[in-house]
Amino acid sequence: MENQEIAEIPIIDDNEELEELKRLRREFHQHPELGWTEFWTTARIAELLEDMGFDVLVGHELYQGGLAELRWGLPDDETLQGFYTLAQERLGENKYLEKMKDGLTGLVAHIRGGEGGPGIGFRFDIDGLPILESAGHHHQPTQDRFSSPLGTMHACGHDGHVAMGLGLAKRVCDNIDSLTGDFYFMFQPSEESARGGFVFSRHELVKKLDHFVALHLGVVKERKLVCDLRFLSSRKFEVTFRGRSAHAALSPQEGKNALLGACTAVVNLYSIPRHSSGLTRLNVGQFHSANAKNVISELAGFQLDVRGENEEICDYMVESAKRILKGAAEMYALELELCDLGFTISTPASPGLKTSIRDAALKAGVPGAAIVNEHFVIGCEDAPFIMKEVQENRGQAAYICLGSPTRGGHHNPEFDFDEDLLIWGVHVLWELALDLSSR
Ligand SMILES: [Zn+2]
Ligand SMILES: [Zn+2]
Repeated sequence: MENQEIAEIPIIDDNEELEELKRLRREFHQHPELGWTEFWTTARIAELLEDMGFDVLVGHELYQGGLAELRWGLPDDETLQGFYTLAQERLGENKYLEKMKDGLTGLVAHIRGGEGGPGIGFRFDIDGLPILESAGHHHQPTQDRFSSPLGTMHACGHDGHVAMGLGLAKRVCDNIDSLTGDFYFMFQPSEESARGGFVFSRHELVKKLDHFVALHLGVVKERKLVCDLRFLSSRKFEVTFRGRSAHAALSPQEGKNALLGACTAVVNLYSIPRHSSGLTRLNVGQFHSANAKNVISELAGFQLDVRGENEEICDYMVESAKRILKGAAEMYALELELCDLGFTISTPASPGLKTSIRDAALKAGVPGAAIVNEHFVIGCEDAPFIMKEVQENRGQAAYICLGSPTRGGHHNPEFDFDEDLLIWGVHVLWELALDLSSR
């Protein structure tokens, strides 16, 4: 028989370490919290890491130096309070919880090995999504009774990221006497809306990092390890057209129709020519105009999301969109208001670190044919904010993908993944940590 090279990451059978990772993943899966409300999640991770021997920065201790003010898109007070109360009920008296009031969630844990080594940082995102999890019996979390009944769900695999982060932290801790350098574990909140990464990128500890790695599971449809997963740059806006209301039958000539301006803008936004240098995306959502049917609309608007393969192409999309929005406002004598809703950037991996990741994957047992150098995904991420900051400080950064088909797909009520990926993640990151620490 011909000896075929294995082109996928092999399935690993249960062993003691994988059992523990699965147990952790399932515990976190049952308590998904939305961006900036990860109170229980943060407190639980902090407790586990402190028990291992890490120094843990939580809440106002973490968000010093104006970081709290850099957050945007915070949920309303009722939502914040709701999640806080739920965490309180689960945890009882808790020393971490109090520090996180007002949504100061997420944490950074630090442990020091021997003198003279590098600063090594890992990022794991911890937020869930506002999705009602499937109660279908074919859905593994329902079958095995670890699904979430709360209307929030870990439907992107961040529960798995938390478990891998804790698994890696345990190995680092258990072997700290033979390691050199400083290890920083960032458990980052609010990735889904691409907000937490920006805030964490401004933390002073990022300047201490010589190497930085983030990781996502799933994403690509085969069990492959991608050394450099790239994302699109994106900008999001709230667009508002202001006109003048009037009786639509008695005096239409007195009105300035904001609805018409908004409609004209939307149709023409979709006609921005594609860019020959790379991918572009554009979409409009939340279109609204509250006027009655016999009233000329005085206020209409929508949310706009544009994306590009790099900053230059994204700028092209933004400038084109602005020109169309201004033109539509002009046509109907309207005022135009543009409000920023956030942005993400695209950052390629540092070449040296990419090579180290390949070597680490091979050492961890990933077949060579299952390792992919780079892959472009039509999505957005906020870890590139941290990556860029590290790279600008002459450090190296990369985003790894632990690829695998998933059930239901990301952000779907039936999302689920092969849990043996958890130990693959720990194996690869551990080999990488060993290599980087010895330099
Ligand atoms: Zn997601
Ligand atoms: Zn995700």
